[in-house]
Amino acid sequence: NDNLADFDPEVHAAIRAELARQQNTLEMIASENFAPVAVMEAQGSALTNKYAEGYPGRRYYGGCEHIDVIEQLAIDRVKDLFGAEYANVQPHSGAQANAAVMFALLNPGDTILGLDLAHGGHLTHGMRLNYSGKLYNVAAYHVRESDFQVDMEEVERLALEHRPRMIVAGWSAYPLQLDFGEFRRIADLVGAYLMVDMAHFAGLVAAGLHPNPVPHADVVTTTTHKTLGGPRGGVILTNRADLSKKFNSAVFPGLQGGPLEHVIAAKAVAFKAAATEEFRDRQKRTLEGAQIIAQRLMADDVRDAGITVLTGGTQVHLVLVDLRHSPLDGQQGEDRLHSIGITVNRNAVPFDPRPPMVSSGLRIGTPALATRGFGAAEFGTVADIIGTALSRDMSPDLAAALSGQVGDLAKRFPLYPEL
Ligand code: PLP
Repeated sequence: NDNLADFDPEVHAAIRAELARQQNTLEMIASENFAPVAVMEAQGSALTNKYAEGYPGRRYYGGCEHIDVIEQLAIDRVKDLFGAEYANVQPHSGAQANAAVMFALLNPGDTILGLDLAHGGHLTHGMRLNYSGKLYNVAAYHVRESDFQVDMEEVERLALEHRPRMIVAGWSAYPLQLDFGEFRRIADLVGAYLMVDMAHFAGLVAAGLHPNPVPHADVVTTTTHKTLGGPRGGVILTNRADLSKKFNSAVFPGLQGGPLEHVIAAKAVAFKAAATEEFRDRQKRTLEGAQIIAQRLMADDVRDAGITVLTGGTQVHLVLVDLRHSPLDGQQGEDRLHSIGITVNRNAVPFDPRPPMVSSGLRIGTPALATRGFGAAEFGTVADIIGTALSRDMSPDLAAALSGQVGDLAKRFPLYPEL
């Protein structure tokens, strides 16, 4: 018998348990989302069986006529979505997309200038243990201690001092929009490539609710599973014909073999969804929800507990909670929210006095709950629950009351009822 439940009850049971966890708790990890059933259907299709090394019309395997249709749809849709001339939809992940871009444009030992990991950058922007930090010479820019905003004067100073071959603009934990025009000016000043990694905020860009980096950058990379709400994967976009050829050959045969065409089909479905009015409405609720949470976590009762919000608000889908002056550390904050059914991740804040494994911050995101259907009223309730949980002593009675509220919200917005 071929079905999963019968053939492999252990894996089947764990998958069912994970589905139930997603259904019964409130997911607020800023990099997560819920892919539509249509996306998961494409990803679980017979395309998983097909080898298709190469690109549409130029494959190294026979039998790619249907695969070509699918990959071309994904390419055309993502180009339309972001107004880019060229797209590569084959990177298996965001990290692979970034690796391919660096592989295409840099030589080992070249200098890159990216946002420090401890200040919100990503591993692939030059972290010591990552390929980016091992292969390339890294200079890192930071946020200012006074207002936690990216210090563009420092970016310019470091660019002039280090003459990087590439400047990376993008982040994993930063609550504000970046000034892409200013990054472009600085890159031009020193003859550097500008790569923007919009992995986190691509969904907002697609909805027209965040500036689009494509017109400013030599290359833009993204994941497809965060605000964009598709399958796990990566994409490379550019308006430069000369660079697009380099990216294609860096992805294949440079870094990858056979593309994951089942994931590429799921990407195509997600790009179609991202062009709809419904998606735009969801991204609006995502932004509004983050603002509601930021406001609530800056209210007096929370402030009195030594808790505040970095930069005093948010312009994107996440809020960075500052626990440096709270007795509660990041680990305890994460655990406390987990105990009442809300999933977030602890996150070092810039200039964090606590060690990274504990940290003094929480990263709270709204994309997954917006996908579930949450609007201003529900985000208001969630904001209250989080504010109360973090700022008050957690008695068993309070914990039970807050868990009850979380459970009610989860029930009112069923996730994947058809599964
Ligand atoms: N770039 C940024 C800015 C990210 O935040 C992430 C993921 O956290 C990535 C790239 C990597 O994506 P993936 O996990 O798909 O490799």
